[in-house]
Formats: sequence, C-alpha cells, structure tokens
Amino acid sequence: MTHLPICTEEVANKIQAILSDPLVKLALEQTKEEQKQRIADQIQLTEIASPPFKEEARAKVFARMLTEIGIDNVHQDEIGNVIGRIKGAGNGPVLVIGAHLDTVFPDGTDVKVRQEGTKYYAPGISDDDGGLASILQVARCLIKQKIKTVGDIVLVGTLGEEGNGDLRGCKALFATDNDYDGMLAIDSASVHRLCRGGIGCKRYRVIFEGLGGHSLHKFGIVVSAIHGLARAITMIDELVPPTEPKCTFNFGVIKGGTSINAIAARAEAELDIRSESQEVLQTFVNKVLEIIKQACDEENKRWKASGENAVKVTFEQIGDRPAGVNADDASVIQAAYGSMNALGISLDKYPFAATDQNVPLSYGLPATTLGAGGTEGNNHALSEWWDSTDAWQSPQLIILTALTLVGLKDKTTPVLKIHKK
Ligand SMILES: [Zn+2]
Repeated sequence: MTHLPICTEEVANKIQAILSDPLVKLALEQTKEEQKQRIADQIQLTEIASPPFKEEARAKVFARMLTEIGIDNVHQDEIGNVIGRIKGAGNGPVLVIGAHLDTVFPDGTDVKVRQEGTKYYAPGISDDDGGLASILQVARCLIKQKIKTVGDIVLVGTLGEEGNGDLRGCKALFATDNDYDGMLAIDSASVHRLCRGGIGCKRYRVIFEGLGGHSLHKFGIVVSAIHGLARAITMIDELVPPTEPKCTFNFGVIKGGTSINAIAARAEAELDIRSESQEVLQTFVNKVLEIIKQACDEENKRWKASGENAVKVTFEQIGDRPAGVNADDASVIQAAYGSMNALGISLDKYPFAATDQNVPLSYGLPATTLGAGGTEGNNHALSEWWDSTDAWQSPQLIILTALTLVGLKDKTTPVLKIHKK
C-alpha cells in the first residue's frame, strides 16, 4: 500500500489566510534577508564540539543565542535540554520545534569549518547544526515581526539523539510533566522530505560465556562461546521477518575469543532490530531472543555439556527507540504538506525515519521531521558537507507549518489538537 500525505481544503484555506497576513509576509522575507546570519550561527555552533554525552558547551551557546533573540526564560531542564517558549494568546495547543545538539563525533575531532563558495565542510555542519540554525532563524522572524499566535511554540535543543544517546533528551522532555501537543523535529537538510512516521528500533548485546580452555585437551568437553554465538546467528539468519509492516534484523558487530588454540570463553554480538510498528517490533524481538536461547541449548546438547562446561547466554539492552506513525491526514502532516504546496516546495520523499519525532509519536502525539534547508552529504563522516543554496526555504516552511498548527491570532484557529492539560 502506498501512502501520500493529505491536506484538506479547510487546512489549505487556513494556510492561505496565514500567508496573506502582512507580518507573516515580512517574516518570510526576513528568512531570505538574514540567510547570512543563519549561516554564521550554523558555523559558530558547529565549531563548538558536541560529542555524545558531552553537549554542554554547545547547549550553553544555543541557550544564549535564543535569549539574545528575545525569547524569555530560556533554560535547561534537569538533563540539559535547552528550552525556550514563545507564548500565544493562551488556551491554545503547544507545539515543540526541536533540533538535536549532539553529534556522532568523539572528543578531539577537528570541527573547524572550511568554506568553498556556498559549500561548507565540517563534521556536524548539517546534522544537526543546520536544524539548530534554522530554529534560531524561525525565532528571529517570529520575535522581530511580533507575530501573535493562539497556541505556544516551544523551541528546544535536545541532547542525545544520535547512536547510543538513544533519544535520551527527547525522551526526558516528554517523560517529565509537560503540556506538549505535537512536535516538529528539524533534522537533515532536504525540505522535500516529510516524515510519515518513526521507525522503532531495539538493540541488544548478546553475550555467550563459558569456561574456555585448551583447544586440544578440552575439545568435546568445554563448549565454545564463539560456536554458540555462531549457531545463534545462523538460526536468526534463517528467519523471514514480517514485510508489511517492514521489520529488519542485523548483527552489526561481533567480538570474541582470545587465541586460535583456545576454546573461547566469551563472544558477543550487537543486534539491531527495527520495524515501523511497535507491536510487530516487540513480537519479533521476543521471537529472536527466544531462538537465541534455543541456539544456546542446542549447542550445549550437541556437545552433551552441562554445568560449568556448558555455555550460557545473556542479553543486555543497549537501545530502545519507540515506533510510531501519523495518519496521512494527521495535523502535522496536513500543516507541513499544505505549507510545502503553498511555498512551491515539491515532495520527494514521505518515509519513516528514526529521529526525535519517534518519542512524541510513541505517546500518540502527532510529530514529523522537516528539513533544515540546503543540501548535504556524508553525514556522520568527517567529510560531512552542507550547501547553503536556498536554505531559507526551511525557516519559511517551519514558520508556515507552525503557525498553521498553533493558529495565527485573530486570523486562524489551530489545526493542532490539544491532547493534554
Ligand atoms: Zn540528526
């Protein structure tokens, strides 16, 4: 079944009403006039290293930048997310707009930005300093033009979106007491991509352990952890996972053993399982873990080993990104797709992705991911680059989408529904 985003006439009319507002017109113009400033922000943030679990320095600067723009009460929550709020008229829905502060690059990575024409090179320049810079530009436009909304807009720099960060910033944001009704995550450059939902992902370290011993003297007596792990991987490899909705598995890393003439005492593998459906994901994970236990039993049985001569298997969960999906006519999809149409931005992709949006989606809140503008390449590599051409399209798209969702005071009612409070 192929899916396409929907924008009803009712929402499209609201978007036209917002677009015809003189202050909104000025705000959209401002995104073009201030593209230089936006690029400068992006470079400044990129050159503050922000390794996994060490985002504090960049967070401090991002917070200061929001404050300097004129956002009141910018603060950091208990774990360090940067949060600022643009208040609406009251009693409206609350929309979160977030980009992540962390990168995948370790301490000591050279983060100096190199420019060649409109192209900028540096680790993190696009993912996700593009998102942070685009959010700052949105804030500058809304504040300068004194645009009054019905609902509130909450601007957030989140921690730990990448890899083993496991969305910890966004998870903390939505786990603590809050009044949030939906989210736009700003990540990746392309404004032509609109995310339909969040891919769920569970990750495990699978650990086989045994006594180990001499490869000759203990042969047939002591079971090898490597042989046990290999049997488990082979058995999982035979599985045919569900295809609708899609579900995948991958053993991405294996380690184990100490010497060619020693029966391995330890072997481990990192396993990543994904699905678009949380239910399918959980069912498949349960099946996989069961089969790995079965493989361990079969390995011990094959050598007639028991007690200390046998191997045992344990699992350590190392990742959990919840899945979630929007209806094709969900408020965020309608607002974003309708805004793309109104601004002449074509839709190239309507995929699932794993970003901060996964967290609100898992709470049943509408959430999607919009691009930060320009074009990009080699994300997560030292050769990462970003091209600033037409990057102003992103703040324009975010402003129009956000105003559609929270409502423009005295002009339109919010499209985003109040879920909490
Ligand atoms: Zn990212």
